[in-house]
Amino acid sequence: MSEKTIPYKIYLEEHEMPKQWYNLRADMKNKPGVLLNPETLQPMTLEELSEVFCTELAKQELDDTNAYIDIPEDILKFYKMYRPAPLVRAYCLEEKLQTPAKIYYKFEGNNTSGSHKLNSAIAQAYYAKQQGLKGVTTETGAGQWGTALSMACAYFDLDCKVYMVKVSYEQKPFRREVMRTYGASVTPSPSETTEVGRKILAEHPGTSGSLGCAISEAVETAGKLDGYRYVLGSVLNQVMLHQSIIGLETKAALDKYGITPDIIIGCAGGGSNLGGLIAPFMGEKIRGEKDYHFIAVEPASCPSFTRGKYAYDYCDTGKVCPLSKMYTLGSGFIPSSSHSGGLRYHGMSSTLSQLYDDGLMEARSVEQTSVFEAAREFARIEGILPAPESSHAICVAIDEAMKCKETGEEKTIVFGLTGTGYFDMVAYEKFNNGEMSDYIPTDEELQRGFDSLPKLDL
Ligand SMILES: *Cc1c(COP(=O)(O)O)cnc(C)c1O
Repeated sequence: MSEKTIPYKIYLEEHEMPKQWYNLRADMKNKPGVLLNPETLQPMTLEELSEVFCTELAKQELDDTNAYIDIPEDILKFYKMYRPAPLVRAYCLEEKLQTPAKIYYKFEGNNTSGSHKLNSAIAQAYYAKQQGLKGVTTETGAGQWGTALSMACAYFDLDCKVYMVKVSYEQKPFRREVMRTYGASVTPSPSETTEVGRKILAEHPGTSGSLGCAISEAVETAGKLDGYRYVLGSVLNQVMLHQSIIGLETKAALDKYGITPDIIIGCAGGGSNLGGLIAPFMGEKIRGEKDYHFIAVEPASCPSFTRGKYAYDYCDTGKVCPLSKMYTLGSGFIPSSSHSGGLRYHGMSSTLSQLYDDGLMEARSVEQTSVFEAAREFARIEGILPAPESSHAICVAIDEAMKCKETGEEKTIVFGLTGTGYFDMVAYEKFNNGEMSDYIPTDEELQRGFDSLPKLDL
């Protein structure tokens, strides 16, 4: 198809929207490591997992054989309200960069949560409702997940208790109010409301918190309350499964115009948007049908892939969650308070970790200031004020487009624009004032995190 006919925005008609999620694990030759019970160190059974998660979600977590899973009708209905997410051809950015590269981005910020998190939140709330639960507990870092879950719980009339990493709670009071508007209760973490919170506060007084701490508090609270389960917005296989909607839509949109990407880029916090975006393409790569260059982008301040170890580790600081085999900085690693809250997690999706270990994907880390420079450039040209997390992907997309400018290659680049940055104005303010720092942990600091890895004899 001739270049001119590709519109600025490629939408899908309602009948073209995916009706099933894609489970990449079914096609992986080397399956990701199984979750281990933190007490027995044996693989978590469905029964054990169902004590923490909704049963249906526990099943999805353990399923590495079924490639396609039907999306329930109620979830499809909800998806139709804010999806399909547009796939945008960044013509204006290409022109500004004077690059022969063709750049596309999949924009997930078109909903009140301002991110892709709603794709999994609505699914998790649905299964909780199906099971007859009263409510759910969770953690939130930057606040996008908490917001998404509050929206989903309001829709299905479930109670929602959110532990919000303290630094975000303080920096983003308006996020908190959005959640409360949707009916959620929000507690800054670490808090005095849980045993693990009190313990962490005693050991690290004045800590600004971390996702790992907030997870421990949310899990503890769910365990103590009748009719509650814990839900998680990233890292888990079930979340990546729900987020496959991003990649499936992207692929359907590209296929409509006969476009095959060369490079696919996404930011990586716990790995869910990246995993969801690349899933159908990675499936083709693994099956030997096509080849793509995948790039995971993470902050230099929290470099799980690029400087982490591939090992079994706790998913949370309080060590109450199952152990997962992943690229990790150690659950004892507390990242510096960077402005990309959604990427401040010590570990990584076990599925992406295995793919990375198998050499099927590249990872790069970028520094905060370069990320915000890319964000500013993008905002000024493409009109969207991006989330700091998403801007990691923008940064590498621009780098790759500039490489094409040097070599004259007309590569097609697709990246995930996971959300908007309206609640990140403290970060933008620091950047605009020239007060942003690029903190990179030293090897000694990382070593302290690695020292917290469980010594397992597996
Ligand atoms: C949470 C979040 C991320 C990172 O989470 P993943 O699970 O790695 O996708 C990225 N961008 C935005 C806008 C987020 O809210």
